[in-house]
Amino acid sequence: MSAPSLHLLPMASSYRGDLSPACTQCAEGRKMVLFVTGLCRFRCFYCPVSPNRNQKDVVYANERRVVTDADVLEEARSIGAGGTGITGGDPLGVVDRVEHYVRLLKTEFGPEHNIHLYTHEPHPEKLQRLARAGLDEFRLHIPHYLWGPLASEGGAYRAVLEQAPSWGIRRGVEIPVLPEKEPELRRLLRTLDEIGVDFVNLNELEFSETNEDQLHGRGYRVDPQNGWGVKGSRAVAERVVRESSLSMPVHYCSSRFKDSVQLRQRLLRRAERTAPSFAERTPDGTVILGIVEPDRAVDLPRWALSVARKVGIGSDDYRLDVARRRVELGPEALRRAARRLPWPAFEVEEYPTADALEVERMPLNRAALAKAGVVVGGV
Ligand code: SF4
Repeated sequence: MSAPSLHLLPMASSYRGDLSPACTQCAEGRKMVLFVTGLCRFRCFYCPVSPNRNQKDVVYANERRVVTDADVLEEARSIGAGGTGITGGDPLGVVDRVEHYVRLLKTEFGPEHNIHLYTHEPHPEKLQRLARAGLDEFRLHIPHYLWGPLASEGGAYRAVLEQAPSWGIRRGVEIPVLPEKEPELRRLLRTLDEIGVDFVNLNELEFSETNEDQLHGRGYRVDPQNGWGVKGSRAVAERVVRESSLSMPVHYCSSRFKDSVQLRQRLLRRAERTAPSFAERTPDGTVILGIVEPDRAVDLPRWALSVARKVGIGSDDYRLDVARRRVELGPEALRRAARRLPWPAFEVEEYPTADALEVERMPLNRAALAKAGVVVGGV
């Protein structure tokens, strides 16, 4: 059988054969990332899990810290999720929790809510149990030192991949491309093609806050042309996909695709659903707000009313953020009124995510400059 034809995606990603439905949803920003625990016993040297989650037993739905099931469901609704990708840490280390979330999401959003899971652990009983609960797909992360024919020590990975079709679940392999391991990777891909897995995803190896010391220590370098990608990783992945004569689908997902396409699409969807009508939305998926902060302890609701009166806006044109102690309003209205206000006024650009990560903050009046520590003559 000849290899399926090559498709090019933005940001140097590419694939042959059909993309997994989970990958399609991810590219459209319709996949919620459910991080079920930061605990993991594998300790891969390239692990990218961020320091505030790494080896901590915490749950996040996208950027939202999860305390109750309602947090998970609300986050899924806030992006209009068509599916969920379960990750960690080691999700199979908390298999009861994973089963609970699979059942919760399927009950709430129906069987068509596509759920996939990443795992390093070739554990047939746990995966079979999750398949029974409704899991649609798993992606095995095969350790680099076992890449090859999956005989002897790699046998457990082979066994799971061979058995999975009888559990009624899609099975794939997802691994980072270590540039010096191209021969081993090619041998592994031939083995996976013989097994007939549903797909293989190759990820660009990339530097992160967590792994940079380990990667530098092992001689990896940043590719200056390619964001935080490791030099050589993209070239090997592209060669493998372009030259592939394998009949199974193979997909290379670049680190820039994850940021510029997947994340951006998710942000755009979230901004569309959650940003207040007075916010400006950018093509990058961020939102721009005018904000006014009190300069001392105040009765916040009463103070917000006086801000609105001074700016000259109605009750639908602003909102009070009690947690962050600020009034939010349209940036245009605030730009016009800022000089008249005695309180610090800023224009901020931030992510429309639960953690509302701020990208930029621009002072709009003298009080804001003073708060920002800028000494000026005559604003
Ligand atoms: S299995 Fe995943 S979470 Fe665990 S150490 Fe490896 S990369 Fe990190």
